Amino acid sequence: MDDIFKTGCKVLKDEPMAIHTTMGVGGPAEWFVEASTLDQLRALLKYSREKSMPVFFMGWGSNLLISDDGIPGITLRLKGDFQSVAFDGTRVRAGAGVFLPTLVKQCADQGLGGAEPLVGVPGSVGGALVMNAGTRDLEIGNIITTVEVLNQDGNVELLNHNQIDFQYRASSLAGKTVCFATLQLQPQPKDDIIRSIQKFLGHRLETQPVGMMNVGSIFKNPPGNFAAQLVERAGLKGYRIGNAQVSTKHANFIVNLGGAKAQDIRDLITAVQKVVAEKFGVKLETEVKMVGL
Ligand SMILES: Cc1cc2nc3c(=O)[nH]c(=O)nc-3n(C[C@H](O)[C@H](O)[C@H](O)COP(=O)(O)OP(=O)(O)OC[C@H]3O[C@@H](n4cnc5c(N)ncnc54)[C@H](O)[C@@H]3O)c2cc1C
Repeated sequence: MDDIFKTGCKVLKDEPMAIHTTMGVGGPAEWFVEASTLDQLRALLKYSREKSMPVFFMGWGSNLLISDDGIPGITLRLKGDFQSVAFDGTRVRAGAGVFLPTLVKQCADQGLGGAEPLVGVPGSVGGALVMNAGTRDLEIGNIITTVEVLNQDGNVELLNHNQIDFQYRASSLAGKTVCFATLQLQPQPKDDIIRSIQKFLGHRLETQPVGMMNVGSIFKNPPGNFAAQLVERAGLKGYRIGNAQVSTKHANFIVNLGGAKAQDIRDLITAVQKVVAEKFGVKLETEVKMVGL
């Protein structure tokens, strides 16, 4: 028996990533591992170091384009204790594995507002922190007080807000092992928070291809511009390679019409970048994280 099973983690061999990503693509993870406690996480990371195995952190898989060839080594997801939520006055401490929309609704139940613009971001707290996920109204970095990361020595390190560099869809937490975060909220009437949540979700229903497999925005907005407008003005709405298509509803989304390959989506991204660069002289940078592509 491989020692990886002795870490106490749930371990699956050659698990298809297509069933764990919102884009519905991705080949097998050599080892797909779920750590539910800090001790399991420590044991797993120790094992990976001893075996010189790469570890890829996965959150909810809502911003990933994983190669059809899959991921070598360990693909790690946080569950169990990392899905806990604890309120303390106007603050909430949440595990990296908590689903962000659920957290926003739990805050609403407590009469705590301020996180509503994040309700439509279908990722984990850990993924949101690494991406500094957000909207025009709020990025998660704006309401973070502290983040707990596991360092190389196996100790939990507490980072204050001012020790973290939050940028547009990026943060200095990338490459770290994010375990927990504390968010600062404000007391508000529950009905107001719920109305606000409905407004944000309603806007998404109107503007995004809800119900189709996608990863949200494919490209970051270039300074002073909007990626969706550039793609639309380039005449690329509906443009298709295989079963990957530039959404007819929102030009900065690519949808998997069913059975698309990661390579089709990769090729479509490249084609869109090329046309936009030729027509407008703008280089579109990807927001989606590509793994093995
Ligand atoms: C329909 C739809 C709408 C979306 N709307 C928005 C939006 O409005 N705003 C926005 O910003 N994004 C949006 N997204 C993109 C996506 O939801 C966010 O980027 C989200 O924060 C990704 O979280 P995740 O848990 O799915 O991370 P993943 O996609 O699984 O991973 C993202 C990155 O985080 C890293 N990571 C994840 N967890 C950890 C951890 N615990 N420790 C260290 N590294 C980790 C991964 O290695 C990877 O580099 C949308 C996606 C979809 C499908």
